[in-house]
Amino acid sequence: MTKILIPNEKSIGETRVSATPETVKKLKSLGCEIYIEKSAGELSGFNDFSYQENGGKIFAENEIEPWNKADVIFCIQCPNDEKLKRLKEGALIVGLLNPFGNAHLAQLLSNQKLSAISLELLPRISRAQSSDVLSSQANIAGYKSVLLAASELDRYFPMLMTAAGTVQPAKVVVLGGGVAGLQAVATAKRLGALVFVSDIRPAVKEQVESLGAKFINLPEIEEKPTESGGYAKAVSSKFLEEQREILSTHLSEADVAICTAQVMGKKAPILISEQMLEKMRPGAVVVDLAVSQGGNCVYTKSNETIIKNGVKLIGAPELPSSVPYHASTLYSKNLISLITPFINESKLCIDNNDEIIEGCLISNNGAILQEKVFEIGGSN
Ligand code: NAD
Repeated sequence: MTKILIPNEKSIGETRVSATPETVKKLKSLGCEIYIEKSAGELSGFNDFSYQENGGKIFAENEIEPWNKADVIFCIQCPNDEKLKRLKEGALIVGLLNPFGNAHLAQLLSNQKLSAISLELLPRISRAQSSDVLSSQANIAGYKSVLLAASELDRYFPMLMTAAGTVQPAKVVVLGGGVAGLQAVATAKRLGALVFVSDIRPAVKEQVESLGAKFINLPEIEEKPTESGGYAKAVSSKFLEEQREILSTHLSEADVAICTAQVMGKKAPILISEQMLEKMRPGAVVVDLAVSQGGNCVYTKSNETIIKNGVKLIGAPELPSSVPYHASTLYSKNLISLITPFINESKLCIDNNDEIIEGCLISNNGAILQEKVFEIGGSN
C-alpha cells in the first residue's frame, strides 16, 4: 500500500497545501494511505477534521515516523534538509522543487538516494495539460496581479460617464503574454481597461487580439526570437535594447504595467529600465511577477513596494498564495492527474520511460538525471 505524506508547508509566505480533502478521498479510493501533517490545510480553508472525514491520517509536526515510512511526498515547495534526511531510500518527492542552479538539492537527493519529480519541468504537451501546475498557478497570479494594481492605482480602470465628467479608461501594458499575461489581459479587460501586450513569441499576437487587447509590434531586426516546447528562448541584448525603445513610448502613457516575461530557467529580461521609469507618470503602478527571476523592472524587490519618481513598484512573487483555496484545489488536482495513472492495485509504480515523467524526473533513487538543470544558469 503506497504511503503518501502531505507536509504542512513552512516556507515564508506559503499558504497553499498539496492535497485537499477531495484529492485525499480520491487517493484513498485507489488504495493509498495518506498522512497529513497537522494544520497543513488550515491556511487554505481545509481543517484537519475534513481530511480525516475523507480517510486521511493526521500526524503531529514532531512525529518523525510518517516521514521515515512515506513512499511519496506531495509538496508545493521542497521540504527542508532536515525533513528530506528523514526519508527512506527510494522515496519520491513531487513538487515545485526549484532545481535551477540548485547544486545543494542535487547533492541531497543523491546522498539520500531519493527520487524527485520537479513540476517546473513538466513537458508542455497536450497530454500533460491537466497536470500543469505552472499554468494553474500562473493563471491565478495573472488574475490577482491586476486586482492588486487596480487597488493600488490612483485612478479608475473603466471608462465612466458621470455627471461630474467623463473618466478615461486606464491604460495597462502587459509584458509577457504567456499563461499569467493572458489572464492579466482578460482580467484588465473585464475591469474596462485599454490593454497592450508585448511578447516575443509571434503566436501571442492572435491570442491577445482575441481577448480585445492590442499587440505591441516586435523590433524589426534580423534576429527572430525562437522558442522550444512552448517556451521563449532568451533574446540578445541588442534585441532587448530595441524592444525597450518601443516599450518606452507605451509605458510613458501607461497607468499600469504587469510584468510576466520569463525565460525558463534563466534570469528574466529587463524590460523596464531606469530611464523608462523616469518617463512613467507619478501614480502609475508596476506589478512584477517575474521578480523571483530577477524581475522585468529595475528596482522591484520580492514582497516589497518601492516608490520611484512617484511610480509604485510592487514585487509580487507569491500571488498564488494570496488565493490559497483555489490555488491548492487546482494544484492538488494537477498532482492527482499526474500520479494516478501510475497507481495500480494500491501500488505506485512510476514509468520512467513515460514522456511526461522523463521530462520532469530529476533524480531516480539518487541518480541525478538532468545535471544541466542543477548547474548555475542551467535549464533543460
Ligand atoms: P513563461 O512564464 O516562461 O513566460 C511568460 C511569457 O514571457 C512567455 O509568453 C514568453 O514568450 C514571454 N517572454 C519571454 N521573453 C520576453 C521578452 N523579452 N519580452 C516579452 N515577453 C517575453 O511562459 P508560460 O506562461 O508558462 O508559457 C508559455 C506558453 O507555453 C503558453 O503561452 C502556451 O502557449 C504554452 N503552454 C503550453 C501548454 C501545453 O500545451 N501543455 C501548457 C502551458 C503553456
